[in-house]
Amino acid sequence: MTDIIFSSWGGEIIENRANETQSQVSIKHQDLPEYFKQDEKIKALMGWKGIVLRSPEVDIIDLCRAYFEAVLEHSKTCDKCNYCKTGWKEMLEVFQDIADNEATEEDLEFLQSAAEAIVSNAKCSIGKSGPAPLFHALKYFADDFSQAISGKKQVSTGTYYSKLTAPCLDACPIHLDIPKYIELIKDAKFAESLNVIRERLPLPGVVGRVCFRPCEKHCRRGNLDEPISIKALKRFVADHELSEQKEPEYEVTPSENNGKVAIVGAGPAGITCAYHLARNGHEVTIYEALSEPGGMSAVGIPDYRLPGNILQSEVQQIQKMGVSINYGQTIGKDITLATLENEFDAVFVGIGAQDSTAMAIEGEDREYQGFIPGLAYLREVNAGRDPYPPGKKVVVVGGGNAAIDCVRCSLRTDKEDIHLVYRRTRSEMPADDAEIHDAEEEQVQFHFLTAPVRILAEDGKVVGLECIKMELGQPDASGRPRPVPIEGSEFVFDCDTIVSAIGQQVDLTLLAGMDDVQTTKWNTIIVDEYTKQSNCSKIFFAGDCETGPDALITACAGGRRAAHSIDRFINTQTLEYDDNHYFDKLFETVKVYDPDEEILKIESKQRFQPSMLPPDTRKSTFDEIEQGLSAQEAVAEAERCLRCYQVATIAV
Ligand SMILES: Cc1cc2nc3c(=O)[nH]c(=O)nc-3n(C[C@H](O)[C@H](O)[C@H](O)COP(=O)(O)OP(=O)(O)OC[C@H]3O[C@@H](n4cnc5c(N)ncnc54)[C@H](O)[C@@H]3O)c2cc1C
Repeated sequence: MTDIIFSSWGGEIIENRANETQSQVSIKHQDLPEYFKQDEKIKALMGWKGIVLRSPEVDIIDLCRAYFEAVLEHSKTCDKCNYCKTGWKEMLEVFQDIADNEATEEDLEFLQSAAEAIVSNAKCSIGKSGPAPLFHALKYFADDFSQAISGKKQVSTGTYYSKLTAPCLDACPIHLDIPKYIELIKDAKFAESLNVIRERLPLPGVVGRVCFRPCEKHCRRGNLDEPISIKALKRFVADHELSEQKEPEYEVTPSENNGKVAIVGAGPAGITCAYHLARNGHEVTIYEALSEPGGMSAVGIPDYRLPGNILQSEVQQIQKMGVSINYGQTIGKDITLATLENEFDAVFVGIGAQDSTAMAIEGEDREYQGFIPGLAYLREVNAGRDPYPPGKKVVVVGGGNAAIDCVRCSLRTDKEDIHLVYRRTRSEMPADDAEIHDAEEEQVQFHFLTAPVRILAEDGKVVGLECIKMELGQPDASGRPRPVPIEGSEFVFDCDTIVSAIGQQVDLTLLAGMDDVQTTKWNTIIVDEYTKQSNCSKIFFAGDCETGPDALITACAGGRRAAHSIDRFINTQTLEYDDNHYFDKLFETVKVYDPDEEILKIESKQRFQPSMLPPDTRKSTFDEIEQGLSAQEAVAEAERCLRCYQVATIAV
């Protein structure tokens, strides 16, 4: 709830200017926070959905000018429609004339007609939604405009911040400029498109295969027909470069001061951090416990979703930038973290969440043959080994992605009877819906509302899993309904292999002796959310070890932020939040994507999705299931993009 003098946000008009005491109202779907930066109160917001005015000190005409200045600047990134190219510039000139007392009533009419022409002729959303607040300003603040034109009022200037965003870009944890890379695909500029992705993400082929696609869930095209296949387009440009056997050319822009940085863990977070530091000219050494890079994307995610050669080639490119990787080096065992802290200018730790969470049931600690934690199971299968060849009847426990990968890997290692048990229902499963669907197609047998109670064994070998039926109760701390056991409903699954895949935890062994580094009760590491700096100023953490088990793109985003901070730390020793951070916070409440928005006047077009190997063929092979788009399909799919850029300006 916020004090609002006037709002037209989302078309809902709140008019409190005549009231002496402003009512406490909140704007539809949004809540405008009180502050932008710590000491800067938000006085007004102007953006794609209208105007929110909170302080009488804000001059609406100057706010319009600041907003149009930002829109003009950002519309230059496209420069395709003539109306946009000239319209914004001319409208901005009118605002300048109004401020200089040189404008006339005709100029106001021009503003209205120029904005209308942009809306009806522009091909993308910056033109379609950009003029919205101007229409509201001209209608609801007509007196302010008339007085300024007649010289009765002087336009006063304020302080503003502006930002270009888009629903997909905002939803992507690493904030890839998705409309931009898709636009380049439309023009068949595939290498340029890949360069846009690589400005932030060094693993486009990997993430283009297995990302959970938060961007697609916030794609405005989905409000009309179906979201753009953003993930598939990313994969397409990465695969295109590989097929052309081209080497990427990375731009290195050395910082003023360069330093030596140690990175612990060659997972997505560590690799991304190394890449950005190398691009800034720093000397980077990665220490990796295993004998290969990639972390969970190498030893967790199976080949049928992410072939090893894709990951290898993307990591090799980063090594060619001068990043060295020392394999088989476990920090906390072979070298202490304190030693790295002493010997390097800064240290980044991206150790992930390597331990499988225990089910805490009877028999789990007995080391029975046939009982295997999920991560160990996947590690073995990914290395080409069946961890328990005599086993034929498998029960996997869990509802996340690791559990789904375990059942699907079991199918591919020649097991006869494969079951997944999960204590809630399908709709509460944390696994990606597409993965659950694929497993269903492969005929994995799901048992919902079922929880394990006890491992049964004979002669030290698993013979069954005792389970109990559950029902859903009141929501728990996670907001999901709490599963409650149904008394007397116990039953036994006859099986010879049990894989527990109920979750992962961070192994904090490497923190021994580093008392200043703080941790949470969930064993994750506490850092500044934005800079990733820990209580030890030289040590930065990100990825799953900070967030808990999450996603590749989140880990990459954390690694990138940490690299940015480390670069600053080496150069200035001090870390400050930049405006992007404050806009990220703002957009957490002033939502960039509106699931209820109706998109009209656009013809529906079929989405191009990558084809899949048929279930019967794929379930007996580790060959990649999902096939890439052809160049023709990629261009056609890119054409569906509505290029939903939006600009927000706030007055403080
Ligand atoms: C089975 C499974 C399937 C998944 N599927 C997907 C998916 O489809 N899409 C998706 O987006 N995400 C998926 N995820 C999640 C994703 O893999 C992780 O969020 C991501 O890999 C985290 O990256 P990270 O760099 O933080 O950690 P990790 O990937 O875990 O990498 C950490 C690295 O640090 C190394 N290390 C650990 N401790 C030390 C030490 N002391 N010294 C030196 N090195 C050390 C590890 O060996 C590892 O290489 C999946 C996870 C699992 C387990």
